[in-house]
Amino acid sequence: MQKVLGIIGGGQLGMMITESAKNMPEHISKIIVLDPTPNCPAAQAGAEQIIADFKDKNAIMELAEKSDIITYEIESGDSDVLKSVENKAEIDPSPETLQIIQDKFLQKSFLKENKIPIPEFMEISSISDLQEGLKKFGYPAILKARRDAYDGRGNFKIECFEQIQQSFDYFKGQKLMLEKYIPFKMEVSVIASRNTKGQIKTFPLVENIHEENILRQTIVPARISEKVSKKAESIASIAMKVLKGAGVFGIEMFVTNENEILINEIAPRVHNSGHHTLQSSETSQFEQHLRAILGLELGSTKLLHPTIMYNILGSKSFEGKYKPIVLSEPNVYLKMYGKEISKPLRKLGHFNLVAENGETIELLLYKLESLKEKVIVKPISSTNF
Ligand code: ATP
Ligand code: MG
Repeated sequence: MQKVLGIIGGGQLGMMITESAKNMPEHISKIIVLDPTPNCPAAQAGAEQIIADFKDKNAIMELAEKSDIITYEIESGDSDVLKSVENKAEIDPSPETLQIIQDKFLQKSFLKENKIPIPEFMEISSISDLQEGLKKFGYPAILKARRDAYDGRGNFKIECFEQIQQSFDYFKGQKLMLEKYIPFKMEVSVIASRNTKGQIKTFPLVENIHEENILRQTIVPARISEKVSKKAESIASIAMKVLKGAGVFGIEMFVTNENEILINEIAPRVHNSGHHTLQSSETSQFEQHLRAILGLELGSTKLLHPTIMYNILGSKSFEGKYKPIVLSEPNVYLKMYGKEISKPLRKLGHFNLVAENGETIELLLYKLESLKEKVIVKPISSTNF
């Protein structure tokens, strides 16, 4: 039976979910997206759009009335409102799962209860809690907003005693937690999926390189031993088993110098570090997400080619319209998100650089250097060189 798919959030993730959904006409008849920006990226890809804030109750109600199944590309949705419309549409991942995940403290507490390895952490409600916590964890430590953080904007790394008050004031009364600083040797992630019937599959481990707290580059497969990769993938599967929700989840982890794996955070949605799957893998993370929430058999997660995904970010030096990015090189797949305005470090697009004929990651990294220059975002007005 064909279903109407509702998506909360129509940015690049909603856009790529929409594109995948359009390739499954036997299962999905229509896609409706809720997003405040007129002609958002998902609408440009062919979704009908309800223009409203993500937290607008009436708009969510309208989306639920019109949809058979609702999913989301952002984790900041109001889980109580979503719960209240569960009688109108199926919601995946479930509002219960979202509620645990969207609060970093609840998420870590849940993982700890289920014996999944994580950095040490504690809840912070006052400056004296923070002083206590720093005595326990030492410096540096990371103070984190429990909710609505992204691209590292909800984190404050406390390096010394003098920064205690400053870090506490920075969050202006938001709910907080403190985490022990992990001097990791690598950041990795697993894109994991669980369908409504409980089937679980993971994509191979990827390596993530951040710049200024924003994901810049994903390398697949991660440059780490088979043993560590398997361990990370199995921790991801266990996390999926206990979390229960249906859909694709992005599970970010640290690999320590002792090759221990610690989960940093889980996103209840398709994830930037899974964009490589569009060309590298038998099934993309977007199709996998749809298969999971529709209760279909999950697709193969086999990696076909080593690949590097590179994010195209807005230049730090301007905000405004930008020159079109063009990249026509063999084995390079450019995807722009249709955002009219560039802002400092805004995610505007990405490309996948795919290996052919046994090319190694080292060779891809070498090729990447010259490609980086071709995707520098420049203002449209400065045409005079
Ligand atoms: P995202 O960038 O995924 O939107 P976010 O803003 O929710 O994430 P986190 O993932 O918690 O933030 O942290 C961002 C980055 O900060 C991590 O990728 C990692 O590089 C660093 N970081 C976070 N927690 C720790 C920690 N306990 N020890 C060391 N580094 C950390
Ligand atoms: Mg993160």
